[in-house]
Amino acid sequence: MKKGKLFVLSGPSGVGKGTLRERALNDIKNLVYSISCTTRKPREGEINGVQYWFVTREKFMEDISLNLFLEYAHVHDDFYGTLRQNVIDELEKGNNVLLEIDVQGALQVKEKMDDAVLIFVAPPSVEELERRLRGRHTESIEAMKTRLTNAVNELSLKDKYDYVIVNDNLDSACEELRKIIL
Ligand code: 5GP
Repeated sequence: MKKGKLFVLSGPSGVGKGTLRERALNDIKNLVYSISCTTRKPREGEINGVQYWFVTREKFMEDISLNLFLEYAHVHDDFYGTLRQNVIDELEKGNNVLLEIDVQGALQVKEKMDDAVLIFVAPPSVEELERRLRGRHTESIEAMKTRLTNAVNELSLKDKYDYVIVNDNLDSACEELRKIIL
């Protein structure tokens, strides 16, 4: 059976990655999402095993020492990581796998799996991103500032990606993503 392909979606907080991901998963058959582990506390409405596997720092450190992660990174003061075995299993089954991870993680994946397709979602401008983040009301002011600073750093690395999608119109951005994956 033909092995699946690995797609990695990154981009700053507030850029609309989550919506793009949802739409891609709804629209594209044989595309599965890899649920990451994180030490971040769940936000209101988030459920363990749906958005993330929410784990303690101790558990995360143990999983690092057991070499269970395909990649992991320290993002906005918490750890986030992709469990390797799930990804390998899905690819072996012939499914395409979508990761939604930060830039540091994406570059680690590319180093280990050269045929992974890296897709960066960029905002039309940093000002627009700030406006969207403020409108989201999911973070404290402090957390939002960290996210904006990280956003500028992430944007500087977008040239390392195979594709850059500028999300100024959600429908066209979704269509661009669909075309890349299909
Ligand atoms: P959030 O806390 O808003 O859910 O996610 C924060 C950031 O962590 C986002 O940029 C998201 O893409 C990234 N992230 C989520 N899961 C992973 C992962 O497994 N690995 C890495 N490296 N980053 C992740």
